[in-house]
Amino acid sequence: HATGNHSSDEKLVVAVRVRPLKSDEGEKILHILDDKTIVLDDDTDKKDILRQKRTSDKHYNFDFAFGENSTQEEVYDLTTRSLVRDVLLGYNATVFAYGATGAGKTHTMVGTPSQPGIMVRALNDLFTSIADKAPPHRVKLSYLELYNENIRDLFNPSAGFLDLREDTGPLKTPTVAGLTEIEASSTSEVMGLLLRGNKERSVEPTAANKTSSRSHALLSVIVTREEEDEKRTGRLYMLDLAGSERASNTKNRGKRLVEGAHINRSLLALGNVINALSGSGNGSRYVNYRDSKLTRLLRNALSGNCRTVMVGHVSPAAANRDETRNTLLYASRATRI
Ligand code: ADP
Ligand code: MG
Repeated sequence: HATGNHSSDEKLVVAVRVRPLKSDEGEKILHILDDKTIVLDDDTDKKDILRQKRTSDKHYNFDFAFGENSTQEEVYDLTTRSLVRDVLLGYNATVFAYGATGAGKTHTMVGTPSQPGIMVRALNDLFTSIADKAPPHRVKLSYLELYNENIRDLFNPSAGFLDLREDTGPLKTPTVAGLTEIEASSTSEVMGLLLRGNKERSVEPTAANKTSSRSHALLSVIVTREEEDEKRTGRLYMLDLAGSERASNTKNRGKRLVEGAHINRSLLALGNVINALSGSGNGSRYVNYRDSKLTRLLRNALSGNCRTVMVGHVSPAAANRDETRNTLLYASRATRI
């Protein structure tokens, strides 16, 4: 599917996007080899002869590798566009942005009014597809933050922490009690809602990053179609995950250390779930959703017939080498079948 204009029909698609190098970031250590391969230059001393350097450069393969010049449109088209069709047919699908703080997750997922990201483009496609459909479809949005295993409503932050409950049916469908659902119909409205919601996200300064985002943000899009005797519901979950940098990298103490532990735990649980679903791991297909609130929330989006897309994000700067390597490893662990 390298030249196709949609992602494959595989259950799990893994892409990695390299954000542009900033003018004050100096040396670049990442290169795109082709549309599936990213090369991380080896970090041996520059005085080493060229040949030695080359042999220890590491190649990482994904379904899609997006370089510094990739556009929002390209990333959306190859990763998420085809999921919208599934959701309209009544399936669930999940897209999530993974990576360290500053690597470009929010740019990819939300973007700006002039460069809208995946969340906005997916809703735009949904609105266009259902515009003249009969019977009419309804699109409802909710936007929540998971911070230190607590859930907050980003459309109504003053409501405080909300409870996560699972229904007693076989699917154990999770519901968040009291979460605001907004019926939306236009893309500009959605962009406004997301930008306002993002301002409510918990942002805590750490030693490593002044605006490190320590929270996971989950946009849930619920599409329903109702006829006399049939109700069909599809859900599209889009996540802007908390920064994946390690707690130990940020000289954290006390509160910061607790946050780091929670983040690592949910990202680890998510990685394990994805690993189990992709069929890798030691033959064990047992999926423990209970390990974190993140995986509990996503339970029926990550199982059954659902499709999942992970977009890993990395900085090309030498200073971010450790985080970059960790993200490439997390993403390739999910890719391996
Ligand atoms: P994260 O959400 O992972 O912490 P951001 O999305 O906030 O990272 O990106 C960090 C900075 O880099 C922001 O100023 C953002 O605008 C910029 N940036 C990230 N990715 C891109 C990109 N693909 N093109 C242009 N600018 C980008
Ligand atoms: Mg962000």
